[in-house]
Amino acid sequence: MNQTQEGILDRAIAEVKSEIDTFSNLEQQAASEKKYKQAELFQQVQNQIRRRDLLGFLGSRNVLPKYGFPTDVVELKTDHLTIDGAKDIALDRDLRIAISEFAPGSEVIAAKKLWVSTGIRRLPDRRWPPYEYAICRNCKRLNFEAESLHAYCECGEPLNEGKQGKRTTFIVPEQGFVAAKETRSPGEAAPQRIYASRTYFARYKLPDRQGNDSAAAEIAPEELDESFADSPVQVWKRYSRYGWLAVVNDGMGSGFMVCPFCGYAELANRSTTRKGKKDRAAHRNPLTDRECNGGLSHYHLGHFFMTDVLETTFRLRIPTEGAIYSLLYAILDGASEALDIQRSDIHGAYYYQSSGMSPSLIFYDDVPGGAGHVKRIYNNLRPTLKAALARLERCECGIETSCYSCLRNYQNQFIHDKLQRGVAIELLMQIFGKADAGTHPGAA
Ligand SMILES: [Zn+2]
Ligand SMILES: [Zn+2]
Ligand SMILES: [Zn+2]
Repeated sequence: MNQTQEGILDRAIAEVKSEIDTFSNLEQQAASEKKYKQAELFQQVQNQIRRRDLLGFLGSRNVLPKYGFPTDVVELKTDHLTIDGAKDIALDRDLRIAISEFAPGSEVIAAKKLWVSTGIRRLPDRRWPPYEYAICRNCKRLNFEAESLHAYCECGEPLNEGKQGKRTTFIVPEQGFVAAKETRSPGEAAPQRIYASRTYFARYKLPDRQGNDSAAAEIAPEELDESFADSPVQVWKRYSRYGWLAVVNDGMGSGFMVCPFCGYAELANRSTTRKGKKDRAAHRNPLTDRECNGGLSHYHLGHFFMTDVLETTFRLRIPTEGAIYSLLYAILDGASEALDIQRSDIHGAYYYQSSGMSPSLIFYDDVPGGAGHVKRIYNNLRPTLKAALARLERCECGIETSCYSCLRNYQNQFIHDKLQRGVAIELLMQIFGKADAGTHPGAA
């Protein structure tokens, strides 16, 4: 290990210590107030953190290369069932995907059967740590903190209660999910998926050895990309190994109701349409099928990880979120084509460094330390953008819309109706300095 990697390992340890401290203090406080039940819950959260899968944890903190390691892999558990064939089924997904595909209410086809996820797996004596989070309405960073969130975003914006920048809590389903007892044969209709996940940039952060933030000094400075020296639009970029991203599934906006005792879970909008208050919480333990009176708590599902990121800022006006995402996905597709990178290996997000600035696009890959895709995009931005433009111009869908041959894919469903091929073409033309908007067929 070189020195930087030793640094990351120290910091990963500091992060764990700081989380355990948070919940140990809460436990002591609850115990001193004679709230023993609550104290026990906080004890269980500490157990969860202490007994985390080590390889998975180190992978998600960029200490171990993910390449070749099955990191952060969770299962939709079916082998508690006595159904023939259930034992042979291995339904594994990376947590980032699992929080969508295995989310309570989602259906999965395996061994010619349709399985429905009906709960989040919880081990005895353990409890999912709650992370309070809010998307800053100003800079779009996702702020999160174990237990309770700080008052202000890094950009200075207060993280208030209120409609925007709303505080919610996510849990990380580290032990996976549980399938319902009943299976069906898959019919004609595609399996239902609660695909409401979205990735956000959180921050550049390495906690110091006390677990405190020491962000600023560790962020690589931005540089001008010289391959765009002749362009009227400045292209700034930086590469960092310490980018934190978070994926959140907000259950189509309404979240999930989760039983903290047995793990039973369902989409929140389902439980609110049920009749009667008492009925609302009634459910069966997904493992034993016994009735459970555990009550239901409201959560989103989430996962966060540190990875290599490329940040690019194009100094031009990008008017809407739809336009930002149109450019982002165009560039991801362009990188895949120009640099021969599997498209499903690279992803993106955006945020604002500060108000009034152009948005910063964040690119990251699924195989940090192994593949170095992001570094290659960093070194080849111009050919990447060129390929992106050519690809968009080739497509035949309406320019005020988009399709699966240009900007849309399975993972960006949350923004499909706002992705516009023409808008991405126009922005790329501006970056290349050939923007006579309106005369180009793609820029009407
Ligand atoms: Zn902010
Ligand atoms: Zn329960
Ligand atoms: Zn298209």
